[in-house]
Amino acid sequence: MTALPATTAKKLGLVIDLDTCVGCQACATSCKEWNTQGYSAPLSDQQPYGADPHGAWLNRVHGYEVGEGAASRTVHFPRSCLHCEEPDCVTVCPTGASFKRAEDGIVLVDPETCIGCKLCSWACPYGAREYDYGDGVMKKCTLCVDRIYNQHLPEEDRIPACVRACPTGARHFGDLGDPASAVSQLVAERGGFDLLPEFGYKPVNKYLPPRPRRDATADTATRPGPASAETAGGATGAAADRLFAWIDRVLSR
Ligand code: SF4
Ligand code: SF4
Repeated sequence: MTALPATTAKKLGLVIDLDTCVGCQACATSCKEWNTQGYSAPLSDQQPYGADPHGAWLNRVHGYEVGEGAASRTVHFPRSCLHCEEPDCVTVCPTGASFKRAEDGIVLVDPETCIGCKLCSWACPYGAREYDYGDGVMKKCTLCVDRIYNQHLPEEDRIPACVRACPTGARHFGDLGDPASAVSQLVAERGGFDLLPEFGYKPVNKYLPPRPRRDATADTATRPGPASAETAGGATGAAADRLFAWIDRVLSR
């Protein structure tokens, strides 16, 4: 059993906006490109041009149709490690290869001591661990630990590759342990959610709910304007609750 730090003052993580994510996969491909040459290198692929291609991707984006008829909408749901505060993926690791850093809360795997037993992937309810069949070890999002502290990069590039690549600004990076940080304020304003909070893993990453949809059939004079921060936060109401209950069901399968 591997121990967790008692607490981490700094909680680096992502805030992902389900309202503005368009499912373009730029974050996923940028992640693959950066991480296949960095801390997690290589991220191997099997039969990339064959009938059954698969490989290690640390960030995956799923697209779902939610609701029916005029009330339906497409939701794009990016999925990667949430750098949980109480993750069993770390405590089940028999070798100490999985660990959570005390200094910034990032959850990592040491490829030198991972024996590829896959216990951690069973313990992660978010499906965020990726076994690399080429390397024989477990891999996962590192929050681009080899990028965010890299003094050789221009300052604007010292953010995770997925955040840098997102064309709609749907991904935000920062310290969620600091209530004054831009990401913490965004979560407070928009009613950021934890995924599957009932598991008690306390994910650091947060998701922002889609804003209420504009009714396409409404008369223009009566159409609501853009959602204010207040109404966006109010999206924690019935529609957003239904959506997140549905995402939780998908993750729980
Ligand atoms: Fe571990 Fe999964 Fe939480 Fe990441 S999302 S810290 S892999 S339990
Ligand atoms: Fe630890 Fe590797 Fe086993 Fe996961 S697969 S529990 S990181 S040894």
